[in-house]
Amino acid sequence: MSKLLRAKEASLARVYTTKEKGIYPYFRPISSSQDTEVDIDGKKVLMFGSNSYLGLTNHPKVKEAAKRAIDKYGTGCAGSRFLNGTLDLHLELERRLAEYVGKEAALCFSTGFLANQGALSSLTGRNDYIILDELDHASIIDGSRLSFSKVIKYRHNNMEDLEAKLSALPQSSIRLIVVDGVFSMEGDIARLPEIVALADTYGASIMVDDAHGLGVIGVNGAGTASHFGLTDKVDVIMGTFSKSFASLGGFIAGDKDVIEYLKHSARSLIFSASMTPSAAASVIATLDLITTEPEHIQRLWDNTNYARNLLKEAGFDTGNVSETPVIPIYIRNEESVFRITRMLQDEGVFVNPVVPPAVQPDATLIRFSLMSTHTFSQIETAIDKLTETFTRAGIPLKQKI
Ligand code: PMP
Repeated sequence: MSKLLRAKEASLARVYTTKEKGIYPYFRPISSSQDTEVDIDGKKVLMFGSNSYLGLTNHPKVKEAAKRAIDKYGTGCAGSRFLNGTLDLHLELERRLAEYVGKEAALCFSTGFLANQGALSSLTGRNDYIILDELDHASIIDGSRLSFSKVIKYRHNNMEDLEAKLSALPQSSIRLIVVDGVFSMEGDIARLPEIVALADTYGASIMVDDAHGLGVIGVNGAGTASHFGLTDKVDVIMGTFSKSFASLGGFIAGDKDVIEYLKHSARSLIFSASMTPSAAASVIATLDLITTEPEHIQRLWDNTNYARNLLKEAGFDTGNVSETPVIPIYIRNEESVFRITRMLQDEGVFVNPVVPPAVQPDATLIRFSLMSTHTFSQIETAIDKLTETFTRAGIPLKQKI
């Protein structure tokens, strides 16, 4: 092995072993659009692993908007927002987003990862504190590290632990609590009312990463802060376009001053090329649909409730924490998660395997996620296949109810 990888042998061995066993579950090439059914290896596979919650990546109006943007603006912006890469389209999108989430201003980045990285690395400094839920997304963790602030984690959604951590910090420092609004792997919602109360008591600030909340919960899908009626109490809202918004990119929304500051200090904005015209235009088209056609969100919830009940009736261990279209099915053994994922794909059902570091080692799971465009019949088929596959693999379902 290359001397460069001397310290990485164990992690690479894990990849090779999984491949040798024929259960490697990553980088599966899809040769169709990301819809409720996809083509893999010449076979139709039901998609229950997508983040396209509203199923809009294939919507004619969204595709048409993307095509029109290519005709007008070309395929790329050839520069960063800071210099030659700002289009009127980006500004329109930012106005729309600010209005949508109820903040003064918004700023778009080329991915959600870069939005978190850019905001978190520049908002707080060396003498400040960033306080994270232990299950926050990787981009929050990486952005926090780049800030040189002290990073403190509290136990997942555990408000006693958050208070214990907050109360020990000096009031003279900036203390920024950062949470996923909807947690990406287990589908539960941050306990925002209590977080806001604690932030008020201790003088801390709050940032919510709403990658999985936007388009799903809140008024017209405006996200977690809206869901709790606490938009004014959250300092910064982050979102991504790679999920409900059927595109690619991300944004930060907040007070005008915060956004003005980020425009001149977020390195992932200043030193990286801007969102493509087609990506920006498709988000605007998606916002139009979400705000004028409530049936997209309604169908997502009908599907979510239907699937959740069927999974529970079948006896799967769904953990009772998910309140959203992301439903975890706990297996609690990494190799079994990989094996089941592979077997399910062979049976025509795509799900995502979730193992450490995304979750704790005793919480490995299959992530089953719903889209607005699934039919009840597709959901029934997938859950029947799950039951058959678990039985064949000898993985016990939790007690039947
Ligand atoms: N935050 C969360 C909670 C996410 O789940 C993701 C994407 N998995 C991101 C941020 C990054 O978003 P993007 O895909 O736009 O880079």
